[in-house]
Amino acid sequence: MAELTKDVRYIKGIGEKKALALNKLGVFSLYDLVSYFPRRYEDRSLERAIAETMDGESVTLRVLIADQPRLTRVRRGMELVKFRAVDESGSVDITYFNQSYMANQFNRGDEVRFFGRVEVKGTHRSMVNPVFELTEKPNGQVGRIVPVYRLTAGLSQRAIQQAVRQGLDACGEQLPDLLPDEVREREQLVQARWAYEQIHFPSDFGTLELARRRLIFEELFILACALGDMRRKRVAEDGIVVPAPDFEEFFRALPFPPTGAQRRAIGDASLDMASGKAMSRLVQGDVGSGKTLVAAAMIWSCWKGGHMSAFMAPTELLAEQHFETLTGFLAPLGLRLGRLTGSLTAKEKRTVKQQLRDGEIDCVIGTHALFSEDVEYRDLGLVVTDEQHRFGVGQRAALIGKGQRPHVLVMSATPIPRTLALILYGDLDVSIIDELPPGRQRVDTFAVDESYRDRLNGFIRKLVGEGRQVFVVCPMVEENEELPTHLKSAEEHAETLRQTFPELTVGCVHGKMKPKEKDKAMAAFVAGETNILVATTVIEVGVDVPNAALMVVENAERFGLSQLHQLRGRVGRGRHKSWCILVSDNDSPEVKARLDIMHKSSDGFKISEEDLRLRGPGDFFGSRQHGLPEMHVADLGADAKVLQDAQREAQALLASDPDLSRPEHRALKNRIDLLFARSDASFN
Ligand code: ADP
Ligand code: MG
Repeated sequence: MAELTKDVRYIKGIGEKKALALNKLGVFSLYDLVSYFPRRYEDRSLERAIAETMDGESVTLRVLIADQPRLTRVRRGMELVKFRAVDESGSVDITYFNQSYMANQFNRGDEVRFFGRVEVKGTHRSMVNPVFELTEKPNGQVGRIVPVYRLTAGLSQRAIQQAVRQGLDACGEQLPDLLPDEVREREQLVQARWAYEQIHFPSDFGTLELARRRLIFEELFILACALGDMRRKRVAEDGIVVPAPDFEEFFRALPFPPTGAQRRAIGDASLDMASGKAMSRLVQGDVGSGKTLVAAAMIWSCWKGGHMSAFMAPTELLAEQHFETLTGFLAPLGLRLGRLTGSLTAKEKRTVKQQLRDGEIDCVIGTHALFSEDVEYRDLGLVVTDEQHRFGVGQRAALIGKGQRPHVLVMSATPIPRTLALILYGDLDVSIIDELPPGRQRVDTFAVDESYRDRLNGFIRKLVGEGRQVFVVCPMVEENEELPTHLKSAEEHAETLRQTFPELTVGCVHGKMKPKEKDKAMAAFVAGETNILVATTVIEVGVDVPNAALMVVENAERFGLSQLHQLRGRVGRGRHKSWCILVSDNDSPEVKARLDIMHKSSDGFKISEEDLRLRGPGDFFGSRQHGLPEMHVADLGADAKVLQDAQREAQALLASDPDLSRPEHRALKNRIDLLFARSDASFN
């Protein structure tokens, strides 16, 4: 039996050239090869007698060639090979277009199996360009369910099928079973060797389903074990003890009473910080639920205990806003706040860094510059990061490595369905803020098409006349994407609006601008200097402009629901009645259904569940933003039930063998160690 780590180029039957092509598909080792699962299957298993076939049916026929194939040239550049084939029930005409070599493939009297679509006209039956097989082979092309793989240049379906066949044969009977026997038995899962065979070359759809279930379970089980392992290592870390202060003192200084959900999250985090172990807690709450206040309370508590805090935001602008907000909450209580952002001069930066070394700042706010090498903290007790889904699992770990072992509080405004949160935040404790501060008004949301353009423009004019501001969001256009003509790019649309509203100022921010220019355009809008801001989704993340009362989303069909919900959360943040208008000329029922959910619901969790259901997890976070390793078979949205089972089994296993040191768990342990090794590369 070959080692699973063996390079594919050394597997019998796979040469240098084929190996290179496989590499392009991400297949390097024997394990990669046997885990390169089909994208779909073609059912060629239905065998019929000729006379029983129906028009349009795809079937396999077992027939005799009844006359010698003839090659004819119909007109220039068009060649036909035609012949008749028979079985006991009747006859069929077979034609190949532009494959003249087919004339020499068959001889009168040969027994051949053909797979193709039958055309029936009266009593006449025919088949065009069928797949054929002269002799029966173990993993042949007809008479069975055939796997269909994702291809790359230089590899045909047949070539991949053969390579996988060689791979499975090289594994012999011994493909290691990563699942402990008792787990496999309890969950009624088939054995690994059989599952790998069946997922590539299924005997029937029943066995395929058994194989899939086993492999999905295995994949999710490994992921759950890996996250559980990370969590265990973390929980074992000693942390700074921050005794719980009397938070009433903090609450009394606020301009409003905290909500029950805010109090609960503060209580959870406070217990963590007093426990003697390092906290890793996620505070998850809808836009506007008041997460910043929770962070402020913990920063205050940390300061009471005699330690510094650092608050990391994803953009400069957000760092500035958080600096303002946190100063409002904390400066009156005696804390010294500082900021470390790109807009400071070199001299100012030096001063702040010096103050951090000397412990003259109690809370510093900035972007990830906070964790660059030349920043030293005298006594860092707490790190808060905002909008965590922008950072991967690997980055999170790097961040904790700074200095001592600070407590970590992560805030996310992306409501995530429970099933996904289990996995995504498997290494974090979670507090959910499921209550909005009182008096929040709902943002009225409508989906419209182009025929409403004039009315929409009139509405914009009216609102701006009343002193309000307007966001207009256009879809992000990828660097190399052909721009379909109906899509509005932010820049062009801004120009159109300038012509439509010559009396108004229209700003624009998009991804291709330099960070400095972007911040300048955003800052002008925040300051009320621009009436309308046209933007790509760069504004998705928590910018606060209380005077903005209208969010217009162009080509709304291009956005996920969760994204639309985030965008909508940019308005309705002040005392003004606010609206969200989703413009889309796409009238497909799915798009209509999606936009209708936005009209009806303002609950971020509910919307995210729907989003996951309608789009699947791949799109849910955009490409690989979530920092999880790529899934081969499992679908984190659709396989929620299996996910729960895998999670439970993983927990039980880790409880009985915490560091997976028992010999029967060695293969599993190796697999887990490999899991994040590859995916982490993308965060550097
Ligand atoms: P998010 O969870 O989106 O980060 P913020 O922390 O920015 O939300 O809070 C949104 C707004 O709600 C802020 O203007 C904040 O001052 C206000 N706010 C927070 N908590 C309360 C509360 N308990 N009562 C009233 N207003 C609150
Ligand atoms: Mg926020």
